[in-house]
Amino acid sequence: MSQYHALSEQEAVEYARNIPNFFPEGAEFVSREIGDGNLNLVFHISDKVSGKSLILKQALPYAKVVGESWPLTLDRARIESEVLLLEASLCPELVPHVYTYDPALALTVMEDLSDHTIMRRGLIEGNRYPLFAAHISHFLAKTLFYTSDLGLNQQEKKLKVQQFINPELCKITEDLIFDHPYWNAETNNYNPLIRKEVEQIWQNDKLQFEVAVLREKFLTHAQALLHGDLHTGSVFITARSTKVIDPEFGFYGPMGFDIGAVIANLLLNYAGQEAWIADEKARHDFREYLLETIRDIWTLFAEQFQAHWTQDGVDRLSKVAGYREDYMLRLLQDSIGFAGSKMIRRIIGLAHVADIQSILDLEARARSERIALSIGESLILLNRHAHSIEEVIDIAKGAL
Ligand code: ADP
Ligand code: MG
Ligand code: MG
Ligand code: MG
Repeated sequence: MSQYHALSEQEAVEYARNIPNFFPEGAEFVSREIGDGNLNLVFHISDKVSGKSLILKQALPYAKVVGESWPLTLDRARIESEVLLLEASLCPELVPHVYTYDPALALTVMEDLSDHTIMRRGLIEGNRYPLFAAHISHFLAKTLFYTSDLGLNQQEKKLKVQQFINPELCKITEDLIFDHPYWNAETNNYNPLIRKEVEQIWQNDKLQFEVAVLREKFLTHAQALLHGDLHTGSVFITARSTKVIDPEFGFYGPMGFDIGAVIANLLLNYAGQEAWIADEKARHDFREYLLETIRDIWTLFAEQFQAHWTQDGVDRLSKVAGYREDYMLRLLQDSIGFAGSKMIRRIIGLAHVADIQSILDLEARARSERIALSIGESLILLNRHAHSIEEVIDIAKGAL
């Protein structure tokens, strides 16, 4: 067993060569590091002769963002591989296959999905994915229901809470999503043209109150095993297939955080389309498609989640009259609140999304940012009063 060190490309090839029964004798390797290098190395390794390939993802012992660097636990690589395996036991077709995990090197060997596109990229280019809503709602219903106290023996669930304790990565979320965007923190990073709108958010006491309640849920509500970072950059997609990658932020938290992440990222693209599709009719149609997708995700999720509940609910109390309806309503409300907070952090906070950040013209970008902030703010203020996903759609339409 090798001691931890960050692999060079050559070492990555040697590592791949020694994986039993994968590459044939006499393989001619080609290796590329394809990660963005902020937290992890991602090596794509292929054999020119057989055409076989795989991915090595190795955690780095630090996080690097805008020149700064701070230590970050390697345990997240264990979490990522164990979450992937657990997800694969529930919906194998929706995650990359994990071949092996090497704890000493904090390294996961997994299926190469290079024939898929990162969904964020695809949406920026105006592509539609008609099966995405069905696939991601299936993923959410399975992973959230069957890791919760509804679908899992409660003692077993507590062991899983322990298995997926992830304090350092949770801290990133607690600070960068729920705290820093709401005051003049050093880590913030926003377009100077929207300074006025940002200051209004800092002064909005009602909004701050709702964010404090959402943060409390994130901190305390160990409801289900979350992916924890379920944005469209963590989704690999084609017309037929969807694969969810990168669950290193996985932990036991409130279900609405994952559902809200998906909704938020579709709405961030919705805001960004201001600049991507010039033709007004085409832009309108694409936005309608995004809203339809959000509606379908919630509707299909709620249907499947409740079907699991009916079929596999583990205890008597979960069948008390009215409880399931109340639970689903709270879940919708949480999803809406978390969606709003995930939008605001992508405009004011440290890490942005390409849907908006890659709009080069600052005025045009500011228009998209104002749309995103306005939707995010409205969703947060709505959250505990919402009754239907249609309210989200109305807010998005009203923000244009
Ligand atoms: P990080 O945690 O550093 O964000 P990701 O798991 O999101 O790492 O991977 C970063 C990039 O590496 C992805 O955007 C994708 O381009 C590539 N990548 C990751 N996993 C795979 C895979 N299984 N197959 C092909 N490419 C991958
Ligand atoms: Mg990254
Ligand atoms: Mg990641
Ligand atoms: Mg990633």
